[in-house]
Amino acid sequence: MDKLRFQSFASGSSGNCYYIGTARTGILIDAGIGVRTIKRNLKAIGLDVSKLMAVFVTHDHADHIRAIGSLGEIHHVPVYATRKTHEGINRSYCVTTKLNGSRRYIEKNETVEVGAFRITAFPVSHDASDSVGYTIEYQGKRLTIATDLGYVGEEARMHLKSANYVVFEANYDEHLLSISDYPADLKRRIRSHTGHLSNTQAGEFLADNYKNHLDYIFLCHLSKENNHPDVAYTTIKSCLESKNIKVGEDVQVITLERHSPTEMIMFG
Ligand SMILES: [Zn+2]
Ligand SMILES: [Zn+2]
Repeated sequence: MDKLRFQSFASGSSGNCYYIGTARTGILIDAGIGVRTIKRNLKAIGLDVSKLMAVFVTHDHADHIRAIGSLGEIHHVPVYATRKTHEGINRSYCVTTKLNGSRRYIEKNETVEVGAFRITAFPVSHDASDSVGYTIEYQGKRLTIATDLGYVGEEARMHLKSANYVVFEANYDEHLLSISDYPADLKRRIRSHTGHLSNTQAGEFLADNYKNHLDYIFLCHLSKENNHPDVAYTTIKSCLESKNIKVGEDVQVITLERHSPTEMIMFG
């Protein structure tokens, strides 16, 4: 059987899109970048859009859904989201091609099988119409994506703990956010329980919930203004090492780039 692969096409508030699959076929989680960029990135890994079995949407913010209309209705890729998220996508200014025949539903704590993949949605706390994370199971391995969340609730914690690979939000550095020129109410929104996770929150969670079966941590959705890849990496690394978890030995930590594809990871 083909090995599981993961590649981030883009990550952050200007667009999010992740490929999970094999050398021949797979799915996307979110499509918050232009469809042409998605096609170009697929081509670079030897695929085209017809090889996509589905796209799963975490929530209806523009940085996660920009290409959903054309992927679904022009390229006929089934689009999975919760009912409330679909309603939000339908209302969204940034989705000009409205979903019709490509619309599929997945509700929280529901599992959908797509090819050899089992995808389960779980609730996360964020200020969108509705928000979920996803666990993708393939050949007994589990990859969990939890992005755009104000805090880690019980369901998300259970999913993240049982994963072999996690894509986890490290949105902002507390200090950089406090000195940034963002208005006070935006800072409050980011820090709130329906906002985003800081580097320290992410690092402490990962250190407290580390299990031996965790092989990879991908840090996603880094803020351009209030974070820096080196700062995020160093913070998470020191949280893990304070619990004697050795980065590079016990677990790999990779910071996902905002605008360019991160190197393809082939697992196992
Ligand atoms: Zn986002
Ligand atoms: Zn969001």
